[in-house]
This record gives sequence, C-alpha cells and structure tokens, in this order.
Amino acid sequence: MRGPARTKAKTNMKTDVLIVGAGPVGLTMAAELVRYGLSVRIVDKNSQRTDKSKAIVIWSRTLELLDRMGPGVTDRFIQAGLKVEFTNIFAGGKQIAQVDLSTVDTPFKFVLLIQQNETERILEEYLAELGVKVERETELQDFEQRADSVSCNLVYADGATENAEFSWLIGCDGAHSTVRHRLGMTFEGSTLLNDWILADVHISGIDGPPSVNIHWHSAGILALFPLGGTRYRVIADVGASASDGIGVHGNPTLEEVQKILDVRGSKELRADDPVWLSSFTINERKVADYRKGRVFLAGDAAHVHSPAGGQGMNTGMHDAFNLAWKLALVSRGLCNAEPLLMSYSAERSAVAKLVLEATGRATKVALMRGEVEQSLRNHIASLIFGLAPVRHMMASVLSEVAVGYPDSPLNTSCGFEHSRPAPGERAPVHEQTSAIGTGSTPRFALCAAADDGAYKGIMGEFAGLLEPTLRPTSDSGCLWLVRPDGYVALRARSGDAGAVGAYLLGL
Ligand SMILES: Cc1cc2nc3c(=O)[nH]c(=O)nc-3n(C[C@H](O)[C@H](O)[C@H](O)COP(=O)(O)OP(=O)(O)OC[C@H]3O[C@@H](n4cnc5c(N)ncnc54)[C@H](O)[C@@H]3O)c2cc1C
Repeated sequence: MRGPARTKAKTNMKTDVLIVGAGPVGLTMAAELVRYGLSVRIVDKNSQRTDKSKAIVIWSRTLELLDRMGPGVTDRFIQAGLKVEFTNIFAGGKQIAQVDLSTVDTPFKFVLLIQQNETERILEEYLAELGVKVERETELQDFEQRADSVSCNLVYADGATENAEFSWLIGCDGAHSTVRHRLGMTFEGSTLLNDWILADVHISGIDGPPSVNIHWHSAGILALFPLGGTRYRVIADVGASASDGIGVHGNPTLEEVQKILDVRGSKELRADDPVWLSSFTINERKVADYRKGRVFLAGDAAHVHSPAGGQGMNTGMHDAFNLAWKLALVSRGLCNAEPLLMSYSAERSAVAKLVLEATGRATKVALMRGEVEQSLRNHIASLIFGLAPVRHMMASVLSEVAVGYPDSPLNTSCGFEHSRPAPGERAPVHEQTSAIGTGSTPRFALCAAADDGAYKGIMGEFAGLLEPTLRPTSDSGCLWLVRPDGYVALRARSGDAGAVGAYLLGL
C-alpha cells in the first residue's frame, strides 16, 4: 500500500534523457547515451531486476555492437554465457539440417546462450560503473510534450510524486508500455492461437558439443537450448489456446515435460530438478512509428515477436544502438535533428517488420499439422538445408550480421553498384582493428585506399563528425563512409572528398 501522497521538489535542472524501463533495452540505451556524454535518468517500477532466464540468446551482431560500448564489455557476456556453434533440426527421428555459426563472417563465430537475468546484471553493473544507478520503484505515470522538453510525472513506491523536465523521453517499458499507451499508438498485429510451455530443467542423456536442437515431431515442436552444465531451456507447443489468444494450458509439471521429451525427442533424455516452469502465447505486433516528437519507443514497447529464432531482445538492443548515436549528435548540435531522428523509426520499423515476417513464417512452418504436410515440409527442408549457400545464408540471418538498412533515408550511393558493402549494409568487422563507433564521441569512419592527402581538408573541416584517421581498404576504386553504428552511409569514388563533405554537411 502506498503511503500518503507527497510531492517531491520540482527538479529544475533539465536532464537530457529519461529512459523508462531497466530491461535489457533500457539498460543498453542508457549505457550508450552515457558514454556519449548525455545526462540520463533510468527508472523502473520494479524493486529489483528480473530473476528469470527469459531471453537466453545473444547473437553475433549484438556481441559486435556491445563490443563498441567499452573495453571488455563483450568479454563480460562471453564469460557469463555458453558459446554454441550449431543449431540442428531433426524431423522423423533424423537430422535434416545443421546451421553452423562458425561460418559467419564475424569475430564472434557462435551464438551466446546467456540468461536474461545475467544480461541485465552485466548491463546494470556496467552502467553503475559509468556513474548511473537505476532508480527502482519509480514509475512513469504520465508525460506532456512541450516545444523543447518533455514534462514527466514519476511516482515512487511510498506514494511521493515528482515532476521533472527532460529533453527526450524513451519508452523501453516493455510489451505493456505506458509510454506507447499515452502516445495513443496502436500495437498492430495478432496473437497466435497456440499455447506453449517453457521449462528450465536439468537434462541428462544429451551427448556431443552444446548445440541448439529443434525437433519437428508430428505431435508438435520441441526446442532444447543448452544453458551450461546439464541445464537446458525446453520450449514446446501444447495445443490451441482460447479464441482470444488467452493461454489455457497453465504451467507444465515436470512429468509433462518428461513426456514431451520422450515423445518428441528421445527416450534417453531425462528431465530433473526444474528451475522454472512456465507457459506463454505468442504475440506478433509492432507500432507503425517509433517516435512522436521528443518521445521514442524501443524494444518490446515497439515490437514483440515469436520466440522462434530468439530475435526479440536482440532486435530491441539494436534499437538502442541505432538511436543513441543519433540523439548524441543532435544533442551536441552537430546535425539537423529532423532527418537523423526520423531515420530511427524508418530504419528500425523496417527491421522489426522483416523479423516479424521471418519469425512468424518459421513458427508456422514448425507448427504444420497433418501427415502429408509434415512429410512434404521435412522433405523440402532437408533438400534446401542440404545446400551450403542456404545454410550460410541462414547462419548470417540468424546471427543478425545480415541485418541492414537498405532503404534508409540516410543512404547515399554515387554508383559503384558492384562494390560491397552497399549503403545500409553492415561494414565488415575485423578482430584486428578497433571497432567503428568506440569511444565517447559518435564519429563516422572514412574507409578508403591509401591516403594521398585527398581527405585532409574534410578531416579538418568535419573533425567533430569524422574519425581522425583513415581506415585503409584494399579496393582502390571506391570509398565508404561508415556510420558510428557500423553501417555504410555513403559509397563513392575513391578520392571523392567532395561527396563525403556534401554528405556530412547535409546531416
Ligand atoms: C518467457 C519468455 C521467454 C523469452 N524468450 C526469448 C528468447 O529466447 N529470445 C529473445 O530474444 N527474447 C525472448 N523473450 C523476450 C524478451 O524477454 C524481451 O524481448 C525483452 O525482455 C525485451 O526487453 P525490454 O527491455 O524491451 O523490455 P522488458 O524486459 O519487458 O523491460 C521493461 C521494463 O520496464 C519496466 N516498466 C514498465 N512500465 C514502466 C513504467 N510505467 N515506469 C517504470 N518502469 C516501467 C518494467 O518493470 C520492466 O523492467 C522472452 C520473453 C519471455 C517472457
């Protein structure tokens, strides 16, 4: 019960950003903004971070982006997680596919299995080292946008309230987002009419190197994710939910989990010692626009997915990486606010749309019923996955290194269609060189063949926006201007400093 309402003294000093929600997305957003020098407050209505394993997958591209955050950040995740290279699909008792993540062109040639409570712990501790503490038991109730600020009403567990001004408000407040509701945005999409169970249990009887194993069985799907030692995450569909998508199954018992392993997996598997038994239904929804004026949405507040492919949390964290450098440049007065901030929604909404389509398709394929349909699916899948280029493409898509912004309003190309990467694509990430976008200033990188002095002028003119040294490439015909988040902004003729200058001037 809240105590009698008190009002805290109105905060006069305007903070740059209020982040609502200290889940993985809010914490990533805060860490990125703070390293770029913005003043940030991050609030969460809960008294402590989640103790649940929830999202357990961090893909290669997310590790690359975390690596830009600060020295050793990615290593903290790797030390707390489990590296897994293979995803196997079994059907009719036979293995029909293996996706090998060690083939992906990235320094992180694996998927990291790590529980969400650990992900949040690492991010929250890192943020504290940067000097920002999560303000817990602090709930955003409402806000009002003004010409140059957002006035926010916060309420504390003891009933005290605070009204504070911020330049920007970012709603990272999850699927039931208060910020989204207050903006009046609809969460368009649907709820799949299937019930699912989730069990974190210890399993014996699995041999070989740790791998993600997905079983397509006539009775339904079974997915097994290793979490280290004998602990596994089990996910399985368990029949239809109510017509309004409300789950009817309830949490499973250990006996039910064992039965599913017996039928859909193999008789050798023995489940024991349950850590978490839960159930869920799948929502596939997104907002049309991630921004209204000075208010932004990110993570589950903006899009929710089927857990097939484990893309939800990763996609949300990428929202943060996309928005933070743009907001930093705008706050420093180095760029025009509108085109840069508008591109956040255009880019991230397009990615969420693709993720929703892909994970929705994967879920439907896995849920196919009927003997004929299933045997056709298994046959086609084993043919398609027999092709090495398909397996490689799958690995690149799953690891999110293939994610890009081909239709971004920030892209510019002056020809050179055959020279990759194209505008909007991820610039290659090399282990030997420092990642683009590290440090306390969001800077673009100029990648071109040996410097013959052609770029000296623009390097000086745009010192606030450009890395001070050229990054050499082997392609002597072309240059690339790469954004602080590692995606190509401009492709032009080598030596065309004018194109680079025009691009940066137009920002
Ligand atoms: C059972 C389960 C399994 C999942 N498995 C996977 C998986 O395998 N892979 C994957 O990628 N994703 C998975 N997900 C999804 C993943 O957990 C979410 O995508 C992720 O948590 C989203 O992070 P977020 O920071 O956007 O939101 P959240 O983690 O939901 O955090 C939002 C935070 O905002 C706070 N908040 C809300 N409203 C307010 C307010 N008004 N004021 C202050 N604070 C507020 C909440 O307390 C919460 O801490 C799973 C989810 C569940 C539930």
